[in-house]
Amino acid sequence: MKQRLALLGSTGSIGQQTLDIVRQRPDEFEVTTLTAARSWERLVEQAKEFGPDNVVIADKSLYGVVSEALRNEPVKVYAGDEALSQVVTSGEVDTVVNALVGYAGMMPSLSAVRAGKRLALANKESLVVAGEHIMREAAERNVPILPIDSEHSAIFQCLLGEVSPVRRVIITASGGPFLRTPAEELANVTVEQALAHPNWSMGAKITIDSSTLVNKGFEVIEAKWLFGLKPEQIDVLVHPQSIVHSMVEFDDGAIKAQLGAPDMHLPIQFALRFPLRGECGESRFSFADHPTLTFERVDNERFPMLQTAYECLRKGGNSCCVMNGANEVAVASFLAGRIKYIDIAHVIQQTLCRATFVASPSVEDYALSNSESRRIAQEIVKEL
Ligand code: NAD
Ligand code: MG
Repeated sequence: MKQRLALLGSTGSIGQQTLDIVRQRPDEFEVTTLTAARSWERLVEQAKEFGPDNVVIADKSLYGVVSEALRNEPVKVYAGDEALSQVVTSGEVDTVVNALVGYAGMMPSLSAVRAGKRLALANKESLVVAGEHIMREAAERNVPILPIDSEHSAIFQCLLGEVSPVRRVIITASGGPFLRTPAEELANVTVEQALAHPNWSMGAKITIDSSTLVNKGFEVIEAKWLFGLKPEQIDVLVHPQSIVHSMVEFDDGAIKAQLGAPDMHLPIQFALRFPLRGECGESRFSFADHPTLTFERVDNERFPMLQTAYECLRKGGNSCCVMNGANEVAVASFLAGRIKYIDIAHVIQQTLCRATFVASPSVEDYALSNSESRRIAQEIVKEL
């Protein structure tokens, strides 16, 4: 039987790469749901190619055009955020691939887990905001969560077959486009420069997050929840070549690493086909052609957001949710030309100071905290 996929965020970078894999393996996968926020033309094209049962367009104002464009197809069209959380619970779905970006991915992840669906997770913000709830509910129902994020896929692969405890994990970071940019020049960085990631081609938000190291901070949080680690067991090391995707150290000092070409098709395919591997096409790494792999410490002076993420993780409660909400507003404001690059960190830090702290948040508290932190961040943006 084919594995039936609900692909959330099918028009984005991870979404389209997931569809590449489905295209290569039509005998293994079937897409029952496709969703997009606003890029309706691509969504319609995908629906015509893959013939899903449902499509969801999150922006309700686009419901009419999508329905009209698909009126001759045997597909149900839904609109709005709530529909995203509903379609994943369908009996026609085996695996939910969450390739949404931002807070919007959290409720669909939780719904998928509650409905007992296997979750292939790219949307790290789900775990940044509500990692404790999502992991607990998944454990209670024995629902597998398979990481798509390359670092977490690497750690997951290093842990296969191990029964001994992990001493620490080492998450690698490319360092982004500003790895060698002096502090005084960071103030004048343009949107175009920040969007030019040296090794990976990704959506705009994660590309900016990679340049500020907010992304790495979020990956530390994601690792804590996925692998049940303490913050002090998670290290970050800059590795500009992006070949070693991450590492795990055990008590005897043995370190296992997972290496490969920087191509997201590989971790996506592994999450979908686990425990099997599959052909990877041209994406092979050659030690002989690239014999130099280097590692260095993060410069916390120029990239303070990694330490801010650790502080949020240690403080717990809704802190990571606040950081996430503030970051979403800050990144959108930077991309829209409203604030400078270095103001992203300022907006996040100030929002963390002003937002209400909730020590043991419920899922409803996360929604309130997300709204509050976004409102505060907007105010700070206006003050700048
Ligand atoms: P993207 O911006 O390219 O795509 C996001 C997708 O989600 C699109 O289909 C978009 O229409 C949809 N979407 C956006 N906002 C939405 C909303 N509010 N409601 C409903 N749908 C919405 O993003 P991406 O680069 O594919 O990243 C997706 C997720 O995967 C992110 O959490 C990112 O951190 C993670 N991730 C991405 C990569 C990568 O290489 N792109 C690598 C590792 C992890
Ligand atoms: Mg990553």
